[in-house]
Order: sequence, then C-alpha cells, then structure tokens
Amino acid sequence: MNSKSPLNVDLHCHSSVSDGVLAPAVLAERASRNGVDVWSLTDHDELSGLAEAGRAARELGMVFIPGVEVSTTWANQTVHVVGLNVDVNNAVLQDGLNGIRAGRIGRAREMACRLEAQGVAGSYEGALRYAGNPGLLSRTHFARFMVEQGLCKGMQDAFDKYLGDGKPGYVRVHWSSLGQAVSWILAAGGRAVLAHPGRYMYTPTQFGALFDDFKQLGGQGIEVVTGSHRPDQYRQYADIARQYGFLASRGSDFHAPGESRIDLGAMPALPPGLTPVWHDWV
Ligand code: AMP
Ligand code: MN
Ligand code: MN
Ligand code: MN
Repeated sequence: MNSKSPLNVDLHCHSSVSDGVLAPAVLAERASRNGVDVWSLTDHDELSGLAEAGRAARELGMVFIPGVEVSTTWANQTVHVVGLNVDVNNAVLQDGLNGIRAGRIGRAREMACRLEAQGVAGSYEGALRYAGNPGLLSRTHFARFMVEQGLCKGMQDAFDKYLGDGKPGYVRVHWSSLGQAVSWILAAGGRAVLAHPGRYMYTPTQFGALFDDFKQLGGQGIEVVTGSHRPDQYRQYADIARQYGFLASRGSDFHAPGESRIDLGAMPALPPGLTPVWHDWV
C-alpha cells in the first residue's frame, strides 16, 4: 500500500464457485499482483467461496470485504444487487440465496430444451462441464460451451444470438424481489449496492423508479466505475449517485482471463465528489 496513491479497491468479481473460472485463492493472488489493496469476492447467489478468498486475501495483506451478487427481478428484467461486508453466517441471507440457487437447475434444463430446438445439442451437459459448482449453473457456462463448439464467435455473440434476454435460449425466471435482496443483505449487516446500472434496458422513467425504489428499500450504494460501464457511464452514474445520495462503488466484475474486458483492479478511480462505499471500512 502506497501512502501517496489512492487505495486500489475492487469490490466486484467472480470465482469458479459461480461463473468465474479461477478458484477463490487464485483470484486473490491475481488481485494482489494487480495492486489491489481492498478486495471483495462477489459470486452470484453464493457464499461458499468467501472463506478461502478471505484467508488468501489476508495472507497477501489485502483488506477483505465478504460479498455476494444477488439476482433479482424488477419490472420484468434481471437486476443485480451486490451485498458488501455481509456476515457469511447469517441465516436470513443464506436461506434467501438457497432459494435462488434452487431455481437454477430447472431453468438450465429448460434453456437446454430451447437450445436443442435451435439445433444446439447437449448444452446442459456441456454447460455443466464448465461449472465449478453444479449448484450454480449460469448462462455464462452455456455461452462457454457454445463458443467451444464453434457455434458462436465469442461470449458476446452467444448472448446476442442465443442467451440474452428475449433470445431463443432465454428462459425468464423470477429470481427474488429487489426488496427481498436488500433485506437479506441488511439482515446480514451488509450494504446493498445496485450493480452496473448502465446494463439495464429501462426507460428513463423506469430508471428513476428503480433508483427511488432501491433507496426506499434501504439500498445505500450504486456501482459507478465497473467493467460493465463505458467511460461516459462512469460520469452518468456519478451524477446519479450525487443526485440520490448513494455511496459509490468500484469493481471490475472480472470473470476470466481473456474473457473479461477489465482485469482485477484495473479500472480508473472514482470520479470526484463521491462518497466511496468503503469510506468507513478502511
Ligand atoms: P445468469 O445469472 O445465469 O442469468 O447469467 C448471467 C451472467 O451472464 C452475468 O453475470 C454475466 O456474467 C453473463 N452475461 C450476461 N450478459 C452477457 C453478455 N452480453 N456478454 C457476456 N456475458 C454476459
Ligand atoms: Mn456473471
Ligand atoms: Mn452482474
Ligand atoms: Mn458480476
């Protein structure tokens, strides 16, 4: 840690416990090598990588923030809520996440049926080969299988052609409500942060309602600098954070070497005039 430069904080990434490819301890090493000082692992709907990640992070001298990225459904679209500094032993949070994970197997089977109808054979087994945790089968695993089979040029192509919302392989599910996700995170002593708002396809009116709802439900922060935002969106969501009084978060959303646009810790700093979500943690 250099006293002159700002802390390098990365509060969003994925391990092989969800749809990343690196084991939690390997991810910790990579974060440390990239100069990260404060690090969180935020696997989708899953806490089981946090013990290993925390141990490795502390050995490497990083401050570790236990996290999770919760899948929710708001106005018929998937919205992700990152829970930061959560108590991994909290039963309310654990039960909530168990419920979300339970729906994933049936959904994956249905996705495979729809893909079969599109001429993509064996995608359930194929996706499962890519899943480090069979209890957390994700569209990302299907995408990796389809790229492997030469059916798609890359991950983005797989989502554009087959897996994205409304595409032939997409299966609509109701994950959890925004209110449930926020309440589980708060019950576990954490802070709820709206993940990558720039990725959602809402109208301006819906976006306003989403931010109002989230705030009213007890959500405290939004991601401003994330691997999922373009630079103009860093500025756009910095304005939203100031306008709504949200704490600001920074995270790579790193999933895999050669696949993710931004590596761990390799994002620009938060724009000025924001209160970082980690302000009282370090
Ligand atoms: P799921 O939770 O199974 O619906 O899968 C969602 C995951 O798919 C996200 O967490 C991303 O990692 C990945 N994903 C979604 N959209 C895209 C995209 N356009 N390109 C690449 N990965 C995507
Ligand atoms: Mn993901
Ligand atoms: Mn996400
Ligand atoms: Mn993510």
